[in-house]
Amino acid sequence: SRPKVVVVGGGAGGATAARYIARDSDGAVDVTLIEPSRAYYTCFFSNLYIGGFRDFDGLGHTYGNLATGGVNVVHDWAVAVDRDAKIVRLAGGESVPYDRLVLSPGIDFIEDSVPGWSLAAQNAMPHAYKAGSQTQLLKAQVEAMPEGGTFAMVAPPNPYRCPPGPYERVSMVAHLLRDINPTARILIADPKETFSKQALFEDGWQRHYSGMIERIGPDFGGGVVEVDPAAMTLSIDGAVENVDVCNVIPAMRAGSIVFQADLNDGNWAPVSAYDMSSRVDESIHILGDSAQQGAMPKSGFSANSQAKVAANAIVAALTDGRAFPARFSNTCWSLIDTDDGIKVGANYEASDEGIVSTGGFVSQLDETSEVRAETYRESLGWYDAITEDMLG
Ligand code: FAD
Repeated sequence: SRPKVVVVGGGAGGATAARYIARDSDGAVDVTLIEPSRAYYTCFFSNLYIGGFRDFDGLGHTYGNLATGGVNVVHDWAVAVDRDAKIVRLAGGESVPYDRLVLSPGIDFIEDSVPGWSLAAQNAMPHAYKAGSQTQLLKAQVEAMPEGGTFAMVAPPNPYRCPPGPYERVSMVAHLLRDINPTARILIADPKETFSKQALFEDGWQRHYSGMIERIGPDFGGGVVEVDPAAMTLSIDGAVENVDVCNVIPAMRAGSIVFQADLNDGNWAPVSAYDMSSRVDESIHILGDSAQQGAMPKSGFSANSQAKVAANAIVAALTDGRAFPARFSNTCWSLIDTDDGIKVGANYEASDEGIVSTGGFVSQLDETSEVRAETYRESLGWYDAITEDMLG
């Protein structure tokens, strides 16, 4: 019978891996994708939806083309991995055997990392860091803010998915508020000294949203926060503020199935950079946000790039095919305001110590507006290309 690959998680890493393994093995490998949702809502461009640059439906993508491409798509949760028996157990009771297992479950939040907040409070204080109804809720809350009200964000500590994501979100919230509620203010409590593309964001905020955005870093207590979702208050280093919207983005760790399978070291799952295989179990590959792989940021672009490396290694191993040297790339685009796009990115290769950068690039402060508009257009092309590459 055909060798079996089971993929857990139909996001940027898992959908890409499932599609490439089915395609590149020409059907010689039996591929099953386990994913509870019938539609995948991309976190990428979810901030642009908040800003009014994309509609919500455009973020959603279904799994129909994966099935036509030869992937057996099962809509269920993986609840356990029996590594000795090489079986994945599903919430529905089924057991699915594998020769190779791919895990790309994204992130989960670390409980109590923001005192006062828990998943039970996610309607009062949304994270919107897994896309879908949370994203819609956050946008609706911003639109319902009283005139001159306060939008607060509790930014996450490193490492977390999408390093520029919180700051692109602030830009998009500011863009929306400038139109509908120009006297509103945005307050960021941030535990990090510095953040991704900081000079570029701060320059953009100054140019487009002057006086609207205040960031409180760790020197001023930005890392010592507490929230009260019932009272709608945020306390920063003991100073209590009434807020109208509170976007809490907690500290993150690998998706919980990684812990269930005992593949973690601390919060993340260490992998080999050569084929994304777990350092604990060679028959399991871990992709995307959950992986501790070295220098790549946790992004959809990274997860998609890592999935192709893993897919090639898995097909080569299971079909005596050819394995290519691991090469990765990433670019993170962010939109600050209409046609003001910025980016940071790099190429990478594998080493014994992990994935290492071979050179990168970042947008410049003194670029022309034509360059910024072109960067934004590039990101539109990327979105279409990656969703097509993942899901066909
Ligand atoms: P995901 O894409 O999250 O996929 C994980 C999947 O696994 C989910 O569909 C989930 O349902 C499923 N799953 C989890 N547990 C189980 C289980 N036990 N059983 C079965 N299925 C399970 N990246 C970019 O490259 N560019 C951007 O512009 C960008 N913008 C972003 C903006 C925001 C606001 C956010 C939050 C993120 C952004 N990202 C961006 C980051 C990007 O979304 C993630 O890094 C990427 O989705 C990671 O891919 P993944 O496969 O690891 O996880």
